[in-house]
Amino acid sequence: MNTFFSATYVMPVTGKPIKDGVVEVADDGTIRGIYPPHSDAVARKPIHNHAGIITPGFVNTHCHLELSHMKGAIPKQTGLIPFLQRVMAQRSTDEDNITRAMRAADKELYDNGIVAVGDHANTGVSASVKKDSKLHYHTFVEVLGFEPEMASSKFTEALAVAGQFDKATSSITAHAPYSVSKELFKLIDDEAQRRRVPLSVHNQESEAENRLFRYKEGPFLDFYRALGKDITDFKAQARNSLHTVMPYLSVDTPVLLVHNTFTAAKDIFFVERQGRNVTWCFCPNANLYIEGTLPRIQHFVQYGHTITLGTDSLASNDCLCILAELKTIHQHFPELSLTDTIQWATINGARFLGIAEEFGSLERGKTPGINLLTKTRGLDLTPETEVVRLI
Ligand SMILES: [Zn+2]
Repeated sequence: MNTFFSATYVMPVTGKPIKDGVVEVADDGTIRGIYPPHSDAVARKPIHNHAGIITPGFVNTHCHLELSHMKGAIPKQTGLIPFLQRVMAQRSTDEDNITRAMRAADKELYDNGIVAVGDHANTGVSASVKKDSKLHYHTFVEVLGFEPEMASSKFTEALAVAGQFDKATSSITAHAPYSVSKELFKLIDDEAQRRRVPLSVHNQESEAENRLFRYKEGPFLDFYRALGKDITDFKAQARNSLHTVMPYLSVDTPVLLVHNTFTAAKDIFFVERQGRNVTWCFCPNANLYIEGTLPRIQHFVQYGHTITLGTDSLASNDCLCILAELKTIHQHFPELSLTDTIQWATINGARFLGIAEEFGSLERGKTPGINLLTKTRGLDLTPETEVVRLI
């Protein structure tokens, strides 16, 4: 039997919000119809009425499930480099601990109305959790290797890790501009082109990254020294990291650039001029956690670029909740409207992950999950808004 849900507003995302709209859903979660109030299709039907906004399930395009056991382990606002050093020093523990934390994180994502996740992995440890999960996962197997001579061995290692995940929903990706050599970027791009899969790369998460590329100076030099890595071959590029590494990738390789905390308007222009297939992912709560600052979101909006949202991991966030990311964005950028940002939280991520046939909008035939946002004011969130999963 089909179920009918109504709320103060229904936001289909691919269409305009409908005041007092009604959503008809089959038992298996398939949307059967979206109706205005008083439509003949819903006359005399038992309707579950709610105060608030009905949206599709959320898509979280950036997470690291395998760092879930590090919740609260790293103090806030250390800056990126001390944060990375602490992750490297503290991440290893026994596999049972990691698995238990990942299962709890997977449940947290589900309970927070998230239906699909783009998840970075350095190992195969999250494969069993993903196999058992009710969520859709795309795994980005993350490869690091700044020394050019290591490129081929690092890529072979990543292939072995990727082999532990479902092939159709995994890709090998570069960790970040400062941790991947030109040679390794090219191997990753060749594979992405051959398999027609997307990449997801951390981008300009610290000003130190730009300083490394512009002048070969700043805290990254100490970071590599402490790791015993020789970066003699790396030359100052006299331009930001993004300008340096994007040309290593084919123009049409779909790339998610994650964080973009220190991305300047000229960097956005650069990407635009090259006609690249780039989607920008913001993880505002992680940026506040690590660096205590936010990306200049208004620049990306102004130039009409495609935006998605991510939570990053529990090592750099108090919760895995897209609604919490939306609240932070609206608190800091009050000029933005939820009818725009809800696209970042749903359909844009679904399109990037190649799952928009099923997820990301309330449309007949899709099974996108259905969320109720409570304690809203008109079409706006309030600090008290919560997410309740209806389906
Ligand atoms: Zn990340």
